[in-house]
Amino acid sequence: MVTPQANIGVVGLAVMGSNLARNLASREGNTVAVFNRSPERTRLLVSEHPEANFIASETIDDFVASLATPRTAIIMVQAGAGTDAVISQLAERFEPGDIIVDGGNALFTDTIRREKAVSATGVHFVGAGISGGEEGALKGPSIMPGGSAESYKTLGPILSSIAAVAEGEPCVTHVGTDGAGHFVKMIHNGIEYADMQLIAEAFDILRQAGGFTPAEIADIFIEWNKGELESYLIEITAEVLKQVDAKTGAPFVDVVLDQAGSKGTGVWTVQTSLDLGVPVSGIAEAVFARSLSSQAAQRAAVSGLPAETTPLDSNDKAKLVNEVRNALYASKIIAYAQGFDAIRAGAAEYGWNINLGAVSKIWRGGCIIRAQFLNRIADAYDKNAGLLSLLLDDYFTEAIGASLPSWRRIVAGASLAGIPIPAFASSLSYYDGLRAPRLPAALVQGQRDFFGAHTYKRVDMPGTFHTLWSGDRSEIESEPSTH
Ligand code: NAP
Repeated sequence: MVTPQANIGVVGLAVMGSNLARNLASREGNTVAVFNRSPERTRLLVSEHPEANFIASETIDDFVASLATPRTAIIMVQAGAGTDAVISQLAERFEPGDIIVDGGNALFTDTIRREKAVSATGVHFVGAGISGGEEGALKGPSIMPGGSAESYKTLGPILSSIAAVAEGEPCVTHVGTDGAGHFVKMIHNGIEYADMQLIAEAFDILRQAGGFTPAEIADIFIEWNKGELESYLIEITAEVLKQVDAKTGAPFVDVVLDQAGSKGTGVWTVQTSLDLGVPVSGIAEAVFARSLSSQAAQRAAVSGLPAETTPLDSNDKAKLVNEVRNALYASKIIAYAQGFDAIRAGAAEYGWNINLGAVSKIWRGGCIIRAQFLNRIADAYDKNAGLLSLLLDDYFTEAIGASLPSWRRIVAGASLAGIPIPAFASSLSYYDGLRAPRLPAALVQGQRDFFGAHTYKRVDMPGTFHTLWSGDRSEIESEPSTH
């Protein structure tokens, strides 16, 4: 007979689950039930960590029996079918009031579906985004739980005990109901894609136009990491650039095949934002840049085509470094502004009450995009929770304003020099698009009305209009088009 004494359980003991279980067991007051489909993993974990306060089970029935009520179990298995299989095993055995947490990387719409099905039985279902990779899982991740407020009463203290801590605050907050946590985790990953691409573009300009070596660029990044660009991603980029290949003695970055992969959350962010009508252009360009890099055959075939380039003026190296830094900072602000816009739009669409300031605070530690800069975003939303765009906050308005001359010169100069900068350039165009008093969208509306009678509105009077393009070209007032 198993004694129900564990206050938390973990199902799935591959790298993420076992590290999370160890993190949980290391915190005062936790007794952690552990279970994995293949018992070898469970045995390995327990034998390697005899000091940990684990209760190991080799059957799902024993695992459930080892949990004190309300039973709380975190699933850390392969996203998709594996997650569904474990959810149904637990849901069959759990009772109303118990809590199932999916800590994997689920698509938020799957989480909405699962929450609906599980909560109908009286069991709580929480989709929790967990960021920080395997090290974060062990030492303190950033955690983005969704689900009911009631389940968070039990879960909140447990998650707070294992989360990263930034400026004295645990990096976890109840994001919102059902899929809100996984939605916010998805956007986190989308921003991560944009941030990484922007840093990569800065590196490329410094190398191609400035002639700096990877080791010299590492030193530049180390300097940048002391200012407003201070972040985990800048820090690890410097480490990667300093790395020398043991086999050849060449910079590591020169021996790595330049074709970047992705696991899907960036794509999900862009697909979802397209559906929501939110222009996350920096994130989209970052995803496309990875896709382009992987078009090996096309790249090889096109590499000899005309370039007609003009070198970027780089006589003053210090000036070039400073201008690239400014362009990177401004573009980064755009990427985050777009990401937060996507969260706001998702919250409106799915009925979530998401506190954007709280989200920026839980990203200050544990996760991949952790950065000083997130304090500025938290300040902006603390001052005005309903801020229409981050760009309207005084700090960001001034930061962009101060960066603009450099930003424009770098985008123009890199374009003339033939250095691809899709994220830098699209971020600047996004900024110019938003601030433009008039956009050529008026002409697009005219084209749409011409070929499809899509109708248009006028600037000077209410109503919906259509021009009789194939007739006498007079204008008629019409019902809005449904095409
Ligand atoms: P993983 O390689 O994604 O999955 C392996 C685990 O899933 C094993 O424990 C495996 O059990 C179990 N599993 C697969 N199918 C199953 C099924 N049908 N029934 C029961 N168990 C099943 O493991 P991971 O890398 O540790 O990631 C776990 C989750 O965390 C994933 O959702 C992942 O996306 C997410 N995540 C990962 C990271 C990261 O940095 N790796 C970061 C954040 C989130 P067996 O041992 O029996 O095969």
